[in-house]
Amino acid sequence: TTATAAIQNAQLHTEVQKQAITDPLTGLYNRRGFFELGRREVERARRFDRTLTVMIIDIDLFKDINDQHGHLFGDTVISGIASQFLRDLRQIDLIGRYGGDEFVILLPETDLENANQVGERLRNNTMGSPYFKDNKPVHITLSIGAATRKPEDESLEVIIERADQALYLAKEGGRNQMAAIP
Ligand code: GH3
Ligand code: MG
Repeated sequence: TTATAAIQNAQLHTEVQKQAITDPLTGLYNRRGFFELGRREVERARRFDRTLTVMIIDIDLFKDINDQHGHLFGDTVISGIASQFLRDLRQIDLIGRYGGDEFVILLPETDLENANQVGERLRNNTMGSPYFKDNKPVHITLSIGAATRKPEDESLEVIIERADQALYLAKEGGRNQMAAIP
């Protein structure tokens, strides 16, 4: 019937919309989805003068993991880490896949001190639960860059830019660590 068709159309529309903002490998928000929702969070924080922290998380030496254990295993690691983040974070936190082996997380109502605890939890949980290839453990570590919103920050992009600079410091400092730029 026409009504059924209309409902099916609406369902399809919702599904297509969801796919447009979702990363297929991990089920996390893709870049577009993360920015759409993240921008709103930054706007809200600006308007009500609230704090928030953005973290960029990058898998250490992931190219070597792919080279040693294969790309399929690499994919398993990426989706496993995504699942871990979903378990370790709160419902209100936004989690996106930012690029190949990079994730971006927005923590509403979270200052740098609390974000440090969150980041350390993510880092430790990843370090503490190896992935298995041919019954042998493969240890994965994360580097994390964090930046907290400043009153003069005009956009989500400028906060991400600082988080990216912090990530660079974490890599420079020897990886498997978190660095922050307030
Ligand atoms: P660093 O510690 O400096 O981050 O070293 P890295 O090796 O992780 O850095 P680099 O950016 O050189 O390597 C990232 C690698 O991630 C390269 C790319 O082949 C791999 N990669 C990107 N997307 C995917 C994916 O979807 N699946 C798999 N298996 N690998 C991916
Ligand atoms: Mg990497």
